Amino acid sequence: MKPRIAIDGPAGAGKSTVARAVARQLGLAYLDTGAMYRAITVAALRENIDLEDGDALGRLTRRLQLDIQSGEDNQNVIFLDGENVSEAIRLPVVSRGVSYVARCPEVRDVMVDKQRQIGARGGTVMDGRDIGTNVMPDAEYKFYLTASLGERARRRLAELTAKGETLELPQMISEISARDKIDSERECAPLKAADDAIHIDTTEMTTEEVISTIVHTVNGQ
Ligand code: C5P
Repeated sequence: MKPRIAIDGPAGAGKSTVARAVARQLGLAYLDTGAMYRAITVAALRENIDLEDGDALGRLTRRLQLDIQSGEDNQNVIFLDGENVSEAIRLPVVSRGVSYVARCPEVRDVMVDKQRQIGARGGTVMDGRDIGTNVMPDAEYKFYLTASLGERARRRLAELTAKGETLELPQMISEISARDKIDSERECAPLKAADDAIHIDTTEMTTEEVISTIVHTVNGQ
């Protein structure tokens, strides 16, 4: 069976870009689990559901049809009841709300089931917060990517500025640290490195360096 690779870490550590490129170079599938929680958040915001109302979020999640396809350049294309929401899930309002949705156990049950089914096929790179600890605890390779808060905020800001959003660095820093706090303090599968994860601090590294570190590790070089 082809290897399963778990890539976890806080917001803005570069997981998605790295995971996608690693999957491409190793000929593996790629799953962006954060995109799944973001899609549920899009639906909850559209339906004006209180993001603190776990029961309502659970009902919504069980009712929605969430499909993930592989698109151009190995990007995940996310469909919610048949509608492509790949752009909507990246809106700042979704980033601000997603951690409230993701801390709800009823939402996680449905998402984690889906992620495990995909992982069971093998040959998958998955990035998220609880992949190495909870979704694929028996993955062959586990990595935990970090970077300083300032660097993570600068990277996220650069991505958003390129899309025409106008946000300032201090605001980005406070949004990212608020999200990390909720993600790491929640009761259900919090953001945490697996005991056997390889830690990579990417603060001073280029994306290419991070990708090749992971690819070389998996190739046993
Ligand atoms: O990776 P990304 O920043 O897009 O993830 C968005 C949010 O989804 C995270 O801040 C976290 O609240 C949630 N998430 C999670 N578990 C995962 C992946 C993401 O709780 N495996």
